[in-house]
Amino acid sequence: MLQLHDVTKLYGSGAAQVRALDGVSLSVDAGSLVAVMGPSGSGKSTLLTIAGSLEEPTSGDVVVGGSPLASMSVDERARLRRRSIGFVFQDFNLLPGLTAAENVALPLELDGTRPRAARQMAIEALEGLGLDTEADRFPDQLSGGERQRVAIARAVVGDRRLLLADEPSGALDSANGEAVMRLVLAACRRGVAAVVVTHDAQLASWADRVVFIRDGRIVDGTVPPPSPEALLQAAPEP
Ligand code: ADP
Repeated sequence: MLQLHDVTKLYGSGAAQVRALDGVSLSVDAGSLVAVMGPSGSGKSTLLTIAGSLEEPTSGDVVVGGSPLASMSVDERARLRRRSIGFVFQDFNLLPGLTAAENVALPLELDGTRPRAARQMAIEALEGLGLDTEADRFPDQLSGGERQRVAIARAVVGDRRLLLADEPSGALDSANGEAVMRLVLAACRRGVAAVVVTHDAQLASWADRVVFIRDGRIVDGTVPPPSPEALLQAAPEP
C-alpha cells in the first residue's frame, strides 16, 4: 500500500542544510501496522508528511496504492489525500465550529459526496468507534479521548487505505492512548495500512513491525515479540 524507495529529504541549503531523511526505504502492506520510533528531530514527522504526499522528497520515490506520487499532478495528489489517506495528529486538529459528525463528514463532502450521504457515512464511522451519542456535539463538549476517536473516525471514513498518525496518543492518558491504538489496529484488520509515530514502546509493541529511525535513517526494523493479547488469542482451545 505504501512504498518508500531510497527517500532523501533535504531542508535548507549551504551550511544550514538539514538531511531530514537519508535514503529511507520502507514498505507497508495493506492490513499492517508499522510503528515508527526515534528521538526528536530524527525525521519521523518528515517521513509521514512525505508518505502522505504533503511534501515531495528531494530524491527517491514514494508509491501509494501502486501509484508513484511523482507521476501525479498536484490535483491528483490532492484527490489521493482526500480519498485514500487519513491523517491523525497529536492535537486532534478538529474544527471547533463543526460537530463531531460534521468534522468526520468534511473530507467526504470536499470530495463531492452529497451532504446527506456524507453524514450517514460519518455517523456509521462514529458508531464504529463507540461514539453513537456524541455525533452532534462540538469538540469542546468532548473529552480528549473522545476527540481523538473523532479524529480517527475522520481518518478512516469512506474508503481510506492509508492511515498516517503522528503521536496520536501523545496528549492522552495511558487508557485513552491504548484505546486509540486499539482503533488503529482494528482499522488495519479491515485492510487499512497504518504508520504510527509513537514514543511509547508499550503501544509500539502492538504493531506488526517497529521501525527505528535516527538522523534520518532507519537503523533497525524488528518484529516485536507477540503481545500478551496475541498470545492469548493464539492459545489452543482448552
Ligand atoms: P521528528 O518528527 O523525528 O522530531 P522531523 O521530521 O520533524 O523529526 O525533523 C527532522 C529534521 O528536519 C530536524 O532536524 C528538523 O529540524 C528538520 N526539519 C523538519 N521540517 C523542516 C522544515 N520545514 N524546514 C527546515 N527543517 C526542517
